[in-house]
Amino acid sequence: MNMNFDVIVIGAGPAGYIAAIRASQYGLSVACIDEWRNRDGSNSFGGTCLNAGCIPSKALLESSELFHRASHEFLDHGININTPIIDIDVMQERKNNIVKQLTGGISGLLKANKIETLVGHGKFLGSNQVEYTDLKGSSSILQGKNIVLAAGSSPIELKSIPFDSDRVVDSWGALDFTEVPEKLAVIGAGVIGLELGSVWNRLGSNVEIFEALPDFLNLADRDIAKEAKNQFTKQGLKIHLDTKVTAVKSNTSALCLTYLKDDNETEKEFDRVIVAVGRKPHIDNLFSIDSGITLDESGRINVDDKCQTSIPRVYAIGDCVRGPMLAHKGSEEGVMVAELIAGDIAEVNYDIIPSVIYTSPEIAWTGKNEMELEEASVDYKIGLFPFAASGRAKVMNQSSGMVKIISSKENDQILGVHIIGPMAGELIGEVVLAMEFEASTEDLQRTIHAHPSLSEAIHEAALAADNRALNFPNKK
Ligand code: FAD
Ligand code: NAD
Repeated sequence: MNMNFDVIVIGAGPAGYIAAIRASQYGLSVACIDEWRNRDGSNSFGGTCLNAGCIPSKALLESSELFHRASHEFLDHGININTPIIDIDVMQERKNNIVKQLTGGISGLLKANKIETLVGHGKFLGSNQVEYTDLKGSSSILQGKNIVLAAGSSPIELKSIPFDSDRVVDSWGALDFTEVPEKLAVIGAGVIGLELGSVWNRLGSNVEIFEALPDFLNLADRDIAKEAKNQFTKQGLKIHLDTKVTAVKSNTSALCLTYLKDDNETEKEFDRVIVAVGRKPHIDNLFSIDSGITLDESGRINVDDKCQTSIPRVYAIGDCVRGPMLAHKGSEEGVMVAELIAGDIAEVNYDIIPSVIYTSPEIAWTGKNEMELEEASVDYKIGLFPFAASGRAKVMNQSSGMVKIISSKENDQILGVHIIGPMAGELIGEVVLAMEFEASTEDLQRTIHAHPSLSEAIHEAALAADNRALNFPNKK
């Protein structure tokens, strides 16, 4: 085996494998080490995102959404299929096959790019050395002119409520339920709690979500969060805010959950509990203590805006460094560091990373929200357009929600866009591109949008920012 590489990447999630491929496109010699273990003991590339995150969760969101629509909306179209039945085994098998195909695809891509793929553990020792330990436990020392740490993240476990890998589970466990729990508790009303809570709610669980903070979805714009809470509540998700789960005790038939709200303690029984209270950097044994790597106050690897660690030519990217824990953020950092290593100019525009929550309706945003602009004392104007006035949303039976565009009062530049509604995750792409080009709402106003399309809602919201909406009354 070759022991010397231009670039050694530790971690083959969406941050690491993309960094490896981009580096190899420059003709650099690259090794990529990954230790991911599936439940059946097999290894696969793709990290959390492909194996236990983005992809399997979206597969289940799609299946459960179709089941929900078949159960509740088909009759509106005159389609009578009697009462649909969900076969959980088939649903899970479909999800597992998608994961297998995509992770197999990553291995194929790495090989096609002539990247040395090494299954096992990587540890940065300092200077330019990486210790690689294979699955049999035998170690070797590799030399890398450049090293990229892309070790990702893992779920936070609450000390008082440990995972039991069966009934009290993390997000990975919640993706693998083999039956629909009758009563499901979710601790944490963040992205995972809402997405996986929605999956099992649509399939028939009674879902209660317990959130410690008093505000719902506090990262989102307040108007969007308010609408989201209304919609989710209508769908049957019971959301307890400002509530602390203090214990989960298990007996043979149920899990007894104790929660505290307004100093009142309540006990309630559930069949399953999902703990989704955030993720922490996965840095166990990733570098030796004397390697020179430092951590920031949140325990993530310290990097500058170019993802350079405290050691020259050693980079860290993705979930193990500051910023949102999102696959596309990690991938763009992977591209950036590979380009920097190759001597190119590169940067990531951290101001407009899109966030998407794949609930129904979907929620998507990029740029600043009203609260952030107020705190920064920026003068802004708002354009709002409800999907209730969109012909395309109406015919899709998905007309709840809105597009909200915020732009500068001074020069009309778009500062933030917040969407709750059908295909929000797709719609946000247009405005990310517009913002990348520092567009104004006038640029969007003068751009022709197809009719009838959901994107017309973006056009109309841009028009509304100047009181020129055509298909909705403007503010007086
Ligand atoms: P990871 O994907 O975690 O990959 C890190 C890899 O490094 C792993 O394979 C790990 O085994 C390996 N590794 C770690 N340490 C070592 C070591 N020392 N030696 C060898 N290998 C090592 N994000 C989105 O953008 N969109 C979504 O829809 C989305 N949905 C999600 C749903 C769920 C349920 C979860 C849990 C997450 C979701 N995320 C989503 C977040 C997304 O998965 C992460 O942001 C993304 O995977 C981070 O990529 P990464 O490459 O930094 O790390
Ligand atoms: P999160 O940070 O989105 O939400 C965690 C929630 O749990 C927060 O609202 C927090 O206030 C709450 N919380 C924390 N401790 C608590 C406690 N003891 N009791 C009750 N509530 C508590 O984290 P997550 O949902 O676990 O997701 C982890 C990461 O994965 C996120 O950063 C997210 O970006 C990423 N992710 C992204 C997507 C997507 O892009 N669609 C989907 C899933 C996950």
